Amino acid sequence: MEKELLLMMPGPVPIPERVRFAMSRQAINHRSADFGAAYADCVRVLKTCFATKNDLVVISGSGTAGMEAAIANVSRDKKIACLVNGKFGERLYKISQRYGKATEIKSEWGTPLNLEKLKEELENGAEVVTLIHNETSCAIKNPAEEIGRLCKKHDALFLMDGITSIGGDTVEVDKWGVDIAITGSQKCFAAPAGLAMVSVSPKAWERVTKNPPYYLDLAAYKKSASGTPMETPYTPAVPLFLALREACLIVEEEGLPARIARHQKMAKAVQAAAQAWGLTLFPKIDKLHNYSSTVTAIEYPAGVKDDEMRGIVKKMGIIIAGGQDHLKGKIFRIGNMGSVGPLEILATLAITQHALKKCGYAVKGDGVGAAAEVLG
Ligand SMILES: *Cc1c(COP(=O)(O)O)cnc(C)c1O
Repeated sequence: MEKELLLMMPGPVPIPERVRFAMSRQAINHRSADFGAAYADCVRVLKTCFATKNDLVVISGSGTAGMEAAIANVSRDKKIACLVNGKFGERLYKISQRYGKATEIKSEWGTPLNLEKLKEELENGAEVVTLIHNETSCAIKNPAEEIGRLCKKHDALFLMDGITSIGGDTVEVDKWGVDIAITGSQKCFAAPAGLAMVSVSPKAWERVTKNPPYYLDLAAYKKSASGTPMETPYTPAVPLFLALREACLIVEEEGLPARIARHQKMAKAVQAAAQAWGLTLFPKIDKLHNYSSTVTAIEYPAGVKDDEMRGIVKKMGIIIAGGQDHLKGKIFRIGNMGSVGPLEILATLAITQHALKKCGYAVKGDGVGAAAEVLG
């Protein structure tokens, strides 16, 4: 058997043993108290991570299913303003184009969003705004709270993809006024891929379309989840729900504030390494935008080839990510989502430092040492 690789990419991430074991059992009836209890455990912990009292449902499907559910249920034929500064912002825009009258508010990938343009769109009657809170493709954290304020002022619905922030970074769905928030199982929750978790505010429920999609009809999920036992409208991916329950119990045991602090510290350690190496972090931040706390994007120095560098890292047992689309070959990304601690971070940085040297880049200083200083 091939040796297991350590996934230090921005999802999927390593799955704790307890979570893996939770899936290895005989099938259970999804219309049973057993399943209902697992679903209830998930929702309890997820509401804490979202910081919300809103309804919250779990859909069998990857994060993108949650994105599509959000748009399709409340945006049909409406004016949608889509904030885009990376790959996933672009995806929300593409989904929006299928259902409503979407306008792209575009910034260069990894640069600040154009909030002036957003204000204009809102003044011109945009009814829905879409945002990626943590733009994974570029490792930039967007100003969700500020955007929530603008949406509230103009009475627009605020749809936020928190797929790589919820469960690993500070997110305040109710305080920020997020009407629909989305996350996925394989990122900060360190569960297997395949589930999307979606919260829906009372304001969003008031505005649901009369013509929702069938499988992704959020009202149907709400109805099934409000009975005893809690259920889903159609057969869910039961083993994934059992795994997510275990992953949520781990979050609860660690405590959300501690979990967030750990993620922030790991990201700071990677940032310190990049700086010590003399490399540039890819995002261009300002007062409102910040570096991500769950993934770090670093620019390649001239002459270092992406395939070669990440190939060396992989040979030693670790997968880090490259850039997507036009950023391929320009950046590499190190994720720190889920259960990642100093051991994984320092191993990743040591191997990356070695690979950078092998590829001909004379690192300026000891990135591993700089990261270790941050960690302990
Ligand atoms: C991973 C990711 C997604 C897509 O999720 P899938 O599970 O691949 O469908 C969407 N948004 C962001 C910000 C992501 O990081």
